Amino acid sequence: MTLKGKTAVVTGSNSGIGLGVARELARAGANVVLNSFTERDEDHALAADIAKEFSVSARYIQADMSKGDECRALIAQAGACDILVNNAGIQHVAPIDEFPLDKWDAIIAINLSSAFHTTAAALPMMRAAGWGRVVNIASAHGLTASPFKSAYVAAKHGIVGMTKTVALETAEEPITANAICPGYVLTPLVEAQIPDTMEKYDMGREEVIKKVMLERQPSREFATVEQLGGTAVFLCSDAAAQITGTSISVDGGWTAL
Ligand code: NAD
Repeated sequence: MTLKGKTAVVTGSNSGIGLGVARELARAGANVVLNSFTERDEDHALAADIAKEFSVSARYIQADMSKGDECRALIAQAGACDILVNNAGIQHVAPIDEFPLDKWDAIIAINLSSAFHTTAAALPMMRAAGWGRVVNIASAHGLTASPFKSAYVAAKHGIVGMTKTVALETAEEPITANAICPGYVLTPLVEAQIPDTMEKYDMGREEVIKKVMLERQPSREFATVEQLGGTAVFLCSDAAAQITGTSISVDGGWTAL
């Protein structure tokens, strides 16, 4: 599988799943554009490391995915966008009658509206290039719900729906649009929660992972960022050319329950 010569833009990719997906796309030969809202030396260093490790071109472009004009500017600045991975996302947990309005607005903007703006900006480039892949990182919460996550669940269900519309609008073109729905993924953020949870439940690491954190994930294993990246690479492959408008769960059986 080679994605040599393709350019992938991955939103929210200076950590976690976005970085993992960008690394796997680069391993498959794609040039990559990393993104987040920060502008630090270490953000640019991540891109330099990828360029060196995989012999591809890699850049970091600062853009705040909560702002529509910055989403569109990211794609314009990238100059090319054959593969668009909409990954940037945040979470906030509260009962709906106490859910802070600013958190609702931020989650809808970053987890859903950003993908509307980047996709609108990227599709003309994909059409001009005669090939394109839109990969939206949704969630098991794009297909099922949990209490206290109204904004996140709404945004993730929204992006699964928008993926279908983009797929229909591009169905007769060499462009596909799909969603990946991860269950619980071992990112640095999740890893950091393990010690506190161990203390709270007075359990060892493995017990806390299997009994508390992965209670809803039948495999009792985290998905990894490399597995998510591998799924994105597959969706960019020729084998996936007729896969469009669907979602692929990488959730250890969560949505089979
Ligand atoms: P993370 O916090 O490590 O990554 C989120 C990324 O989004 C970071 O790079 C962050 O800088 C970026 N980001 C946040 N706000 C932004 C903004 N305003 N503009 C630009 N970038 C911004 O978390 P993660 O777990 O890697 O999450 C990545 C995606 O995967 C999210 O959409 C999340 O909903 C989804 N997801 C994660 C899990 C999981 O278990 N970790 C499960 C299902 C879905």
